Amino acid sequence: MNTGRNRQLLLVTGGSRGIGAATVRLAAGRGWAVAINYASAATAAEALVREIEAGGGEAAAFRADVADEAQVHALFAAVDARFGHGRLRGLVNNAGIVDVAARIEQMSAERVARIFAVNVVGSFACAREAVLRMSTRHGGAGGAIVNLSSRAAERGSAGIYADYAASKAAIDRFTVDLALEVAAEGVRVNGVRPGIIDTEIHAAAGLADRVREMSPTLPMQRAGTAEEVAQAILWLLSDEASYVTGAMLDVAGGR
Ligand code: NAP
Repeated sequence: MNTGRNRQLLLVTGGSRGIGAATVRLAAGRGWAVAINYASAATAAEALVREIEAGGGEAAAFRADVADEAQVHALFAAVDARFGHGRLRGLVNNAGIVDVAARIEQMSAERVARIFAVNVVGSFACAREAVLRMSTRHGGAGGAIVNLSSRAAERGSAGIYADYAASKAAIDRFTVDLALEVAAEGVRVNGVRPGIIDTEIHAAAGLADRVREMSPTLPMQRAGTAEEVAQAILWLLSDEASYVTGAMLDVAGGR
């Protein structure tokens, strides 16, 4: 395991809760220094930093709305300043949102634009900043990017949140094209498609009971945990996946 200034640096967007927080914990345990981005949950993000530091790890939290390009620039500048230029070796584009369950004829353009701004435009912007730091084309030392898609990208989400499903389908395409652009530049890019995972995201859709209600209908008859998704993310980031790029890994219990 790396220690001190030798630790490689990972930035996890939306790292304050859910899958992002589980990824932060697992990464810190495996020797990464971790930059934790969040939108508003400062208390949770700072508590996570203290937890990692108490375990001998290195972490810092950074507030930024990934949908706002100026804030993305400021985020990466702050991460460079805090951890040192040239240390970034990994990005997990995890920040993602849903809106309340609705049919398409009930969706305002403003709602759909916000979903795409966070889930898609934010992922493009963060990936751009990471490539500018990690790609050998730009003088970097290489690295890996993992994008959070969803099984909804392929299954759709008719009647619930088709806007979200469409944004995740965009992430699938984006993942493969970015992987091809930087394949010869030391940067691997992969995606994870979680199924039904037990986090707070379902409550944001007004579907607080979704995990409990869906569980008996799922192939493994249970939802997944944030930790199970984090395990897949960490594998894709690791050298064990050194010949894996442009791949989408379903973590969905067969769904
Ligand atoms: P979650 O529990 O709702 O957590 C979302 C995280 O994203 C929080 O840390 C939140 O920060 C952050 N965030 C939201 N908007 C942001 C913004 N504009 N800028 C920066 N950060 C922002 O979600 P989750 O269930 O862990 O989902 C994580 C990822 O997995 C998402 O991309 C989601 O689409 C995907 N996914 C989840 C499931 C599932 O069943 N849970 C299934 C498939 C895919 P604050 O805490 O500050 O609000």
